[in-house]
Amino acid sequence: MDKFTEHISLCDLFQYFVDTVTDAQDICPRKGGVVQPEIEDDTEDCVHRLNMDGRSPILLVCEHASSFIPEEFHNLGLRPEELQSHAVWDPGAFDVAARMSYLLDAKLLAGTVSRLVYDCNRPPDASDAMPAQSERILVPGNRDLTEDAKAARVTAFYDPFRTTLAQTIAAMDHPVLVTIHSFTPVYDGQKRSVEIGVLHDQDSRLADAMLSCGDWMEGLRVMRNAPYGPADGVMHTLREHGISGGHPNVMIEIRNDLIAGGAAQDTMARTLAGWVVSAITTIGVGQGGA
Ligand SMILES: [Zn+2]
Repeated sequence: MDKFTEHISLCDLFQYFVDTVTDAQDICPRKGGVVQPEIEDDTEDCVHRLNMDGRSPILLVCEHASSFIPEEFHNLGLRPEELQSHAVWDPGAFDVAARMSYLLDAKLLAGTVSRLVYDCNRPPDASDAMPAQSERILVPGNRDLTEDAKAARVTAFYDPFRTTLAQTIAAMDHPVLVTIHSFTPVYDGQKRSVEIGVLHDQDSRLADAMLSCGDWMEGLRVMRNAPYGPADGVMHTLREHGISGGHPNVMIEIRNDLIAGGAAQDTMARTLAGWVVSAITTIGVGQGGA
């Protein structure tokens, strides 16, 4: 019998991870967003779904995966050099999340448009759901948006993402929500020394467990709720889809200079995958604890 069919034992999951990582010599010939040809990769309703048959209790989410701005928005008036900046998306985050999806056999849901079109980690009433400025970058296409224009973006981009996420979680037995983000090494002229942020809101079970896994953090400058935390309005997905259902959850922020190429993304994905699994085993997920 398949070891995942009845009830997922985290010991089995960990062994599965170890086996997979050991066997995986080439986890990511990434072309056009596809990590492995055998992994189902599907985009519809503006939601990118990867490995939706994945059997892990972990659901990976990458809200800021894409820099794509649909033609109708005329690049939101951004200058050419701004179109691939961290204001537009989280560089490298999807590449790491997709590799983790493969390593963990975990489902991954990712956004398909720039967070400047709609930030899927914000509720529609947030002032920065469609920001007119991000760091020092002005976003002319978001200035003076009418209520109708805002509502149209919510309907087109946020609602499908939220619904898909909610339905996916609802169909899982003991879901663990892990969101993957990246941040810029220099913000507003300030250098950031933190390399990995482990972020949480009032449910800190998984973050606490991760921050207790010393071995996995070796050589990395890891901080709790940095460079962002609950006061920055970044907890929407965790609150809406993790905390509300009592599911363990964590948001992982990776400094984007550490995941600038395929080899670095491989290394980070292996580290985070093993780290998250180690942390989950300590909080009893799948054994009645969640
Ligand atoms: Zn992000």
